[in-house]
Amino acid sequence: MKSTKTFKALGVTKPVLDAIRAQKFDKPTEIQARTIPLILSGRDVIGGSKTGSGKTLAFSCGIIKKVIPHKGVQAVVLVPTRELAEQVGNAIIKFSKFKRMSVVKVYGGVSINPQIEHLRRADVVVATPGRLLDHIDRRTVRLNAVKTLVLDEADLMLDMGFLRDVEKIIRETPKRRQTLLFSATVSDDIYHLEKKHMHNPEKISVEQFVDASKLRQVYIDVLSQEKFSLLVHLLKEERSGLVMVFCNTRRNTDFVAKNLKANNVQCCAIHGGLTQSKRQQILQDFHRGKTYALICTDVAARGLDIQDVSHIYNYDVCKDAKQYIHRIGRTARAGKEGKAITLLSDRDHDNFSKVSRLNRDIEHIEMPEIPSAQIVYRPTGRTPTDRRPGRFMGRRNGSGGGGRGGQRPRILRRQSNAARPRRSNASR
Ligand code: ADP
Ligand code: MG
Repeated sequence: MKSTKTFKALGVTKPVLDAIRAQKFDKPTEIQARTIPLILSGRDVIGGSKTGSGKTLAFSCGIIKKVIPHKGVQAVVLVPTRELAEQVGNAIIKFSKFKRMSVVKVYGGVSINPQIEHLRRADVVVATPGRLLDHIDRRTVRLNAVKTLVLDEADLMLDMGFLRDVEKIIRETPKRRQTLLFSATVSDDIYHLEKKHMHNPEKISVEQFVDASKLRQVYIDVLSQEKFSLLVHLLKEERSGLVMVFCNTRRNTDFVAKNLKANNVQCCAIHGGLTQSKRQQILQDFHRGKTYALICTDVAARGLDIQDVSHIYNYDVCKDAKQYIHRIGRTARAGKEGKAITLLSDRDHDNFSKVSRLNRDIEHIEMPEIPSAQIVYRPTGRTPTDRRPGRFMGRRNGSGGGGRGGQRPRILRRQSNAARPRRSNASR
C-alpha cells in the first residue's frame, strides 16, 4: 500500500530525494511513511511489514542523513546472509548516489584482504555477523563512532543462531546510538534484543501478510511418489514469469533441480552449500531472467528482492509457519499478481497444519491428470528411472494411454479441512 504523503513531506533529505527520483519511486510505501519521520528524528524503531515493502530505503534515509564522510564507521547494518549483504549494500549505494560516502560490504566466503583495504575508508558497513566479528578480532574495523545500528531481517538472524554474535557486535558500538530493527515478521525472540539493547523503541507494524487480492494461494494433495511429476507438470502448464521452488533441505534442492533439468525445465539450485561466487552467479542469472526456475532453500532465498517472480512452489512445506509468509512474499511484489502453490504429500501434513492455522486463505485445488516425469537422479543412488517418460498417471483423453495405461486418474484422498492434519508418516 502506498502513502498519500510525499517523501519530501516525510523530511527525507535532498540527496536521498534525488536518488528516489532517479529510481522513479512516486510515493512512499506505508512502512516508509510511518517509520521515516521517526528514523530521521533519531528514535529507535522496530519495524515489521511484509517483504518487498521497502524497509531498506526507510533505514537508508536515516543513515545517509547522519553520515559525515571520513569520520570512521558511522553506521552498521547487520544482515543474516551474504546475498542480503550484497543486496542491501547495493541498495544503500544506490540511495546514496548523490552523497559522498563509502559503503563497504563485509561477508564470509570471499577473501578478507580487499575488505580490510576498503574498511579503512568505510563510512557505512553492511555485514553478516560472523565476518564482521572476524574484522573486529583482527582490529581491521572499529565501531566506536557508530551512530546508527540496523538489524535487518532480525528474526532470521536470531533463527540462524546469531544472537550471541550480534550482541558481541552491539557491545563494540557506543551506548548512545540509534538502533533500528527490521524484520518481515516480528516475533517474541526480538524482545530480548529490544529490552537489552534498544531505547524506548517505537513499534511500527503494518499489514503482516501479503495482499490477498494480488496473491492466490492454493494447495494440491499429491502422493509423495507423484510430487515431482506434479511439479514438472505445473512448471510446464502454468503460464508464468519467474518461478521459485522451495525445498527444506539442500539434498532436495539438488534432487529437484537435477531432475527438472532432465525433464527440460530450465532451472538452477541455490543453497548454502555452494561457494559465494557460484551463488551470486546463479542469482544474477535469475535476476536477468536467464533462469526460469530457482530451486532454493529458505536461507538462500530469504529477503532477496527479485522482480517478476510470478509463482512460488512449496515442494516441501516449511517447518515454521512464519517461513511460509517469507516464501510467498517473494511473489506478488510491487502490486503485481502472484500465485503460491503448495504440493502437499503425507509427510508435509504436520507442517502444513501449522501454516494453515496462520493463513486462512489457502484454497484446495484438485490434483490434475498428469504425465509421469522422468527421475534420472536419485541422491540415494537407486535405479535411475522410476517410471518411463510419457506414460500418463491418469487417463489420457479417455483413451487409455497405451501399454499398461488406461488407469483411472488418481483421485487422491482429499483433506476437507486444511487445518486438520493427518499423522505424518515421515519426518526429516
Ligand atoms: P523489504 O526490505 O521490505 O523486503 P526492499 O527494501 O528490499 O523491501 O524493497 C523492495 C523493492 O521495492 C526494492 O526493489 C526497492 O527498490 C523497491 N521500493 C522501495 N521503496 C519503493 C517505493 N516507495 N516505491 C516503489 N518501489 C519501492
Ligand atoms: Mg529487507
